[in-house]
Amino acid sequence: MNGSEPRRLTCHCGRAELRVTLAEPASAARRCDCSFCRRRQAGNVDVRDGDMEVVRGETLTLYQFGTHTAEHYFCSVCGCYTHHRRLSDPSVMGVNVAGLDGVNPRASEPMPWVDGADADELSGAAR
Ligand SMILES: [Zn+2]
Repeated sequence: MNGSEPRRLTCHCGRAELRVTLAEPASAARRCDCSFCRRRQAGNVDVRDGDMEVVRGETLTLYQFGTHTAEHYFCSVCGCYTHHRRLSDPSVMGVNVAGLDGVNPRASEPMPWVDGADADELSGAAR
């Protein structure tokens, strides 16, 4: 799957829906060990800012911390993470690979980790 086709991404209750064109294959999903992501534990893949459309988003809630550069969105009804604006490159969104139609995140195992703990140090959000 090369990710070039627009795809549907939903939260669990379906009240939040995105239409995304992945910038990389779904199999490239990885996790991050920053203070927030280590708790959230969702594999995510890149989508460039202009390649994401919020189809339904009334229930999306924004969570920010530290430098307030990254934007972490989740559904306020079912609690599922949908996407976030990356701290490392704010022109790129990370999207929840497990919310994509037709993707089982088990296919990405063993899922690699990226170093987010160092970014915590920079943003003063270390836990
Ligand atoms: Zn929901």
